[in-house]
Amino acid sequence: MIQITMPLNFLGTVYREIRQALIDMGDMFDLLGQPAEVQDTPGSTDLNVTGGHVALRDVAFGYDPARPILRGINLDVAPGQTVAIVGSSGSGKSTIGRLLFRFYDVNDGALLIDGQDVRDVTQASLHAQIGVVPQDTVLFNDTVHYNIAYGRPDATEDDIIAAAKAAKIHDFIVGLPDGYQTTVGERGLKLSGGEKQRVGIARTLLKNPPILLLDEATSALDTETEMEIQAELKAMGEGRTVITIAHRLSTIADADQIVVLEQGVIVEEGKHDDLLAAAGRYAHLWNRQSEDEPA
Ligand code: ATP
Repeated sequence: MIQITMPLNFLGTVYREIRQALIDMGDMFDLLGQPAEVQDTPGSTDLNVTGGHVALRDVAFGYDPARPILRGINLDVAPGQTVAIVGSSGSGKSTIGRLLFRFYDVNDGALLIDGQDVRDVTQASLHAQIGVVPQDTVLFNDTVHYNIAYGRPDATEDDIIAAAKAAKIHDFIVGLPDGYQTTVGERGLKLSGGEKQRVGIARTLLKNPPILLLDEATSALDTETEMEIQAELKAMGEGRTVITIAHRLSTIADADQIVVLEQGVIVEEGKHDDLLAAAGRYAHLWNRQSEDEPA
């Protein structure tokens, strides 16, 4: 990117616009993790979500096939349930999310949504059914209205306001100089981490997907904001299938199922209390984090 952008610097405003567009595109890929590398399979049909059951069957994957990242992953997320994936940094948590979105194809095994292999459905229909709330919501250099409506371009003004209210960001927006027409993002008003997260939540609420992929915020939010955002994410998860990639264990203690990943393998799974009682890997992570982050 530096090599591309440096020569553009002295070519004036037009090129600065282009450069910003390139950066925005880069951000958009960041938003979803990675650029899409796979194409629709010829003859693929639209994904038909009936309940939102997500299943990984013996999944193996490596970005470089010579270096496996995930091995023998079996996971079942029943419709409407919340599964939290935990594990140390680099264990492959976010990679599972990227496979669900089919940014990459598995090397072995399969990933199914309501029994349909993600390789057999159109990517547009797959992406329409999965809402992603990433670690750091990327805002486009555009109005707040646009940034929320991005979740569903045909949304009405009333829909957008309702989503903003549910994400508890409406009052903040109406206090901005131009309300919903205020430009935000790199070249506009800079929003705080918590405000950006709320715009992201409003965007996802508007999209109303049956499946949610939450990549929990690692960016520093103050404790109160973080608790509020967690409550809003939790409310959003009601009635949806949720896969949470968790970095802090305190936020996922009430998940229906917790999966502990180590070096690309599931080493433990169960509910919080059972895993603590088992005094294994999860209990170790929990105790270590409790020491790091005293309540
Ligand atoms: P963290 O908690 O730090 O976010 P994670 O458990 O989500 O980590 P992943 O992002 O899934 O980990 O990464 C798993 C492994 O895959 C890491 O070793 C990482 O370096 C590698 N990896 C991630 N993305 C790529 C990529 N695009 N190309 C090659 N290797 C990658």
